[in-house]
Amino acid sequence: MSGDQQPLAGLLDLAAVRESAAALHSAFAEVAADGQRVLHTFAVKAGSLVPVLRLLDDCGIGAEVASPGELALARAAGVHPDRTVLDSPAKTASELHEALNTGIALNADNPEELARLDALRPDADARLGLRVNPQLGGGAIDAMSTATATSKFGVALRDEGARAWVVRAYRQRPWLTRLHCHVGSQGMALETMAAGVRATYELAEEINAAVGHQQVSTLDIGGGLPVNFDTDEITPSYADYARLLANTVPGLFDGRYGLVTEFGRSLLAKAGSIVARVEYAKSAGGRPIAVTHAGAQVAVRTVFAPDAWPIRVRAYDPKGLSKHASTAEPAAVGAATGSTAVEEVAQDVAGPCCFAGDLVARDRVLPRLEAGDHAALLDTGAYYFSNPFGYNSLPRPGVYGFTCAADEAQEAHSGDIRFLPVRSPQSVEELITESGGAHRDALLGRAEAAD
Ligand SMILES: *Cc1c(COP(=O)(O)O)cnc(C)c1O
Repeated sequence: MSGDQQPLAGLLDLAAVRESAAALHSAFAEVAADGQRVLHTFAVKAGSLVPVLRLLDDCGIGAEVASPGELALARAAGVHPDRTVLDSPAKTASELHEALNTGIALNADNPEELARLDALRPDADARLGLRVNPQLGGGAIDAMSTATATSKFGVALRDEGARAWVVRAYRQRPWLTRLHCHVGSQGMALETMAAGVRATYELAEEINAAVGHQQVSTLDIGGGLPVNFDTDEITPSYADYARLLANTVPGLFDGRYGLVTEFGRSLLAKAGSIVARVEYAKSAGGRPIAVTHAGAQVAVRTVFAPDAWPIRVRAYDPKGLSKHASTAEPAAVGAATGSTAVEEVAQDVAGPCCFAGDLVARDRVLPRLEAGDHAALLDTGAYYFSNPFGYNSLPRPGVYGFTCAADEAQEAHSGDIRFLPVRSPQSVEELITESGGAHRDALLGRAEAAD
């Protein structure tokens, strides 16, 4: 997994994925009523890789999809329609038709989409809901804040007449049995997330009172638990959030409603890292610069919005030994333990893309990186290697799951690492195909180009 063929790879700690799935299950089991239906789904955009969806499904976590492509991936992974929820804001008429046919759950985004559903005459047992925006305001990252006054998502509840319209919409549609919110992702305060869930719960109660029976039977409370990108600590935890929800919205857990969650980042981020070889070490204007193979093609948000998405970088020598002074520092996966502490300097960690801003860390104090070393980008298990950017026709790196023999309680020597393929690195042939290779002569205007 090193060398010139693969100077960049994504790694996923499979035990850590199973641990975070288990933490999610137990956090909600702790506060839910006996026998209350709770379906946890994984927001596919955070890790759109079939074996990862399969692993999560095996951990009892279904799929939240937001496009025909994501739905196809969930199906390819074997996720059952009963455990699949479709949430995109731009569903086409054919997608709606398909969703009703396959029996996946679906949350409509707006009045026009509801009208399209009307035309499809849904069955009473279809699992259909409406997304609402409680308009509670944003979090630390604008682009991640879905509950602002003018957010593009859901029905804006505080707009004039909107609440009464929603209640009427449910009264007219006995098949509308769910209510959905997702007030934001990374950067939202937990209290704001819980307030969004409370607003959704209160609206469900109001609808049910107006209709005269419990028509809304399921509340989909979205995802959005933020990830700590500063240290190894998992904070906030699922248990923190579940307890806050139980305090803020006690009725959520009294057993009258089925629940759906849609966590993405918090399930995978800390289980993954990206490891890149340092190709050259240079200096400019007195600033040391490590030129690595990890840049905007894998760390899109970190490169383009570095203040909102800083990530930790760790330095390893060519053998995979940590270059950090702390003895607590783990060796890179697959390396012998130990460290070869070296002098720390402020340096830029750059990627391979041909634009100046292609840096994953700026002026960062780290052990000096040298050619042949490896830079590891930590906490990148969600959104990073599954959402590549096609700049400079750089190939998508391979992604590998790993397990330690010790994790599997095998008799084998502890520390034995086993790698399992998740995604093969993109080949040059695949790149050519993706880039119109089949239509080489199409623009020459000659007759033979048309066939
Ligand atoms: C992105 C998204 C999620 C997951 O958000 P995370 O911050 O990754 O947990 C859940 N639901 C919807 C509707 C989303 O758009």
